[in-house]
Amino acid sequence: MSVALITGGSRGIGSVIAEQLAKDGFDIAICYSGNEDAAQKTIEACKKHGVQAMYIKADVSKADDVTAMFTQVKELLGPVDVLVNNAGITKDGLLLRMSEEDFDKVIDINLKGTFFCTKAAIKDMMKARHGRIINITSIVGVKGNAGQANYSASKAGIIGFTKSVAREYGAKGVTVNAIAPGFIQTAMTDELPEEVKKSYLSQIPLARFGQAEDVANAAVFLASEKASYITGQVIEVTGGM
Ligand code: NAP
Repeated sequence: MSVALITGGSRGIGSVIAEQLAKDGFDIAICYSGNEDAAQKTIEACKKHGVQAMYIKADVSKADDVTAMFTQVKELLGPVDVLVNNAGITKDGLLLRMSEEDFDKVIDINLKGTFFCTKAAIKDMMKARHGRIINITSIVGVKGNAGQANYSASKAGIIGFTKSVAREYGAKGVTVNAIAPGFIQTAMTDELPEEVKKSYLSQIPLARFGQAEDVANAAVFLASEKASYITGQVIEVTGGM
């Protein structure tokens, strides 16, 4: 049985990706940063598909947490075959008001976390001559967004990282791709003011906000053998935004 590790799998997009990969027969490991109840619920939902599933508290911005997480997953489930770098946060604000702390925090979790987890996963994938790395970036990493200089920089960084690592490990059977969601209804976007949401909606040709399932569908495809000749790509899941 192949093993999929989804960072930030306790809630939102990561939770739905975990469940859908479980449905496809993957054993599942997820990590979370603080919300154990949500992590437990995700794991219970995964187990209903007859697979093994586990959760771990790990801060992806801390190298030691990441090393310990990969060791534990390997011991209990086996080496990771599919890694979904999904954990992410926002700390929005206009540039002139953005603190160094808020800039660093977002870069550390979103971008450095992706670096730590990818580095921890790649050796076993090379040994197996098979692996799938799926990085969750954002449309704002492509286009930019006022008030999100830190977040956009982290997500643009993930795109460069994805394309570079895809070039390094393609010959070893490892594909590395990114998914760039637009506006997806989760806790992350629920907190935005109504007028901001309305303005986003007016920019979406498909005239609806995305759901976590829309992103998970792309992730499941990229994790599958059907995507075996796709690497270094950024798939936008934005309703045409
Ligand atoms: P969410 O509902 O806020 O969930 C975030 C997840 O990340 C939670 O599971 C959280 O764990 C985990 N997390 C946060 N900091 C962490 C850390 N330091 N270490 C490990 N896990 C951590 O977010 P979402 O909307 O599902 O977003 C998921 C990904 O999609 C993010 O990378 C986000 O940037 C990206 N994205 C989202 C949208 C959107 O519209 N929602 C659009 C584009 C891109 P806890 O439950 O323990 O807090």
